[in-house]
Amino acid sequence: MGTRIITIDGPAGAGKTTVSKLLSQKLGCVYVDTGALYRGVALEIQRQDIDWENDEVLDVFLKDLDLNFVRQKDRLILTSSGKDITKFIRTPEISMLASSSSAKPQIRAALLDIQRNIAKTKDTVFEGRDMGTVVFPDAAVKFFLFADLSVRAKRRFDEMPGETKDISSVQKQMKIRDDNDSQRKSAPLKPAGDAIEIDASFLTVEQVVGKMLGFIEEA
Ligand code: C5P
Repeated sequence: MGTRIITIDGPAGAGKTTVSKLLSQKLGCVYVDTGALYRGVALEIQRQDIDWENDEVLDVFLKDLDLNFVRQKDRLILTSSGKDITKFIRTPEISMLASSSSAKPQIRAALLDIQRNIAKTKDTVFEGRDMGTVVFPDAAVKFFLFADLSVRAKRRFDEMPGETKDISSVQKQMKIRDDNDSQRKSAPLKPAGDAIEIDASFLTVEQVVGKMLGFIEEA
C-alpha cells in the first residue's frame, strides 16, 4: 500500500499552517508547508539579485538552486545549499516576492520533485495552494480552507510582532497575494473538484481539525 496523503489548500491567513500542524499531530504523521519552498526561492532571488522575469536567467538560477527540507528534532527546517534559511523567509517582502515569482511555471516545475519525493516514504499532510489540484491529484483526502478576507487579515495582524504594524496594509497585501495566486495561469489557487471546502471564518482551530478528522475517518 502507498502512503496516505492529505492536502490542505487555501488563501493566505486562512489558518492552514496551524490546522495542518495540529491535524498531523492527531494523525501521527509528517506535516509539510510547501509555501516555505516558494519563500526559499524568493529569498535566493533576493539575495542573488536575480532578474527572475528573464527566462534564461531564471533557468540558470534554478539549475543551481539546492533547496531541501531537513528533519530537525520534531520539525522540518528549510535549507538552501545546506544552510538553514527557515528564519529568513517570513518577512512581508518575501511573502510578496514569493507570490509574484511563484507564477513562473519553471519555478513550480523545479519544486515538484522535492514535494513528491517526501510523499513517497511517509504519510503526510501537505499545505499549499495547488496540492490537491496539481501536485497530489490522487491524495486520499483534499481540503480547501478559506475565511473572510477581514478575518484573515485580523489573524495575520494579531500574529505580527511590533507596534508600527497597520491592519489596512496587511489586508491590502493579502488581497494582492490572493489575486496573484488565484489569477495566475500556472497552478492557480482553487479548490480541486473533489476537495472538501471548509469556511473557517467562525470556527476555532480545534473545530476545523475536528471536522477534518471526521471526513478523514469516513474516507
Ligand atoms: O503559504 P505561504 O503564504 O507561505 O506561501 C507563500 C506564497 O507561495 C503564496 O502566496 C503563493 O504564491 C506561493 N505558493 C504557491 N504554491 C504553493 C504554496 C505557496 O504558489 N503550493
